[in-house]
Amino acid sequence: MQKSFKEPKPTLYVVSTPIGNLKDITYRAVEILNEVDVILAEDTRTSSVLLNHYQIKKPMISYHEFNKDEKESQIINLLSEQKNIALISDAGTPGINDPGFEIIKKVIESGYHVVSIPGASALLAAVVTSGLIIQPFTFLGFLPRKQVDMKKTLSEYINRKETLIIYESPMRIEKTIKVIYQILGERNISLARELTKTFETIIRTTLSQAIEMEHNTKGEYVIIIEGDTHFQESFNESVVDHVQRLIQSGITEKDAMKQVAVQRGIPKSDVYQAFKIDKK
Ligand code: SAM
Repeated sequence: MQKSFKEPKPTLYVVSTPIGNLKDITYRAVEILNEVDVILAEDTRTSSVLLNHYQIKKPMISYHEFNKDEKESQIINLLSEQKNIALISDAGTPGINDPGFEIIKKVIESGYHVVSIPGASALLAAVVTSGLIIQPFTFLGFLPRKQVDMKKTLSEYINRKETLIIYESPMRIEKTIKVIYQILGERNISLARELTKTFETIIRTTLSQAIEMEHNTKGEYVIIIEGDTHFQESFNESVVDHVQRLIQSGITEKDAMKQVAVQRGIPKSDVYQAFKIDKK
């Protein structure tokens, strides 16, 4: 009987690279990067450091946020010429807050293979070392920069039980933590900085303590936030008890009333009234 033979299809390999420590790359990733015809790199200069370290000599094509549309047809053409391609980003896993999603989708739609070569990603490294509940978690990536939009996004997660994972730049870390505290109230958090690098730091604390600290404005951060562990409780207790509990967890009376209103979906004035009457 004739052996069934599967025609090798041209493939786009989505290759994870280190998030700091150059040793955090898999044998398979090095092998694939050596085998493909061309490497799509977010920043060819940044990736040269890694490729030189592993003595990988392959043509690179820059593929980033600002040229991804114009590169799309070039990439599909290469696959149609039976070329194999690797996609890498500056750090970690392409597609995770890095360019990749659109080309991956396009390659699948065009009928070629997409294969993952898994490895480092800051979100997983940060959540597993946080000591906070891992499943379920929600990865939010970067929050919107404008405070009003940031607050709006965070408000959607007030009553949610899952652990939240957020990427943030060192320049904005202090402001962002303050906004998170304002909207989500007291929670346990973990601040993972410079993971896998020489100055790796993991601060496991609470939001109220974190806003009192000075945070290093160099390096990269992942913020891990505990879910709403009081979710059930919030609705079995009175409005006044709910406000009291939030105040006891360390936030101001004003913020506590605001949060209770948002969490219960009732007007702020109702919370204010109930709380003031009870105080008399
Ligand atoms: N693709 C990457 C991944 O798989 O994690 C993420 C790229 S995103 C543009 C960069 C953000 O990831 C940084 O601002 C930071 O929030 C986080 N990050 C990347 N490397 C990190 C590290 N070594 N330590 C802590 N956070 C890191």
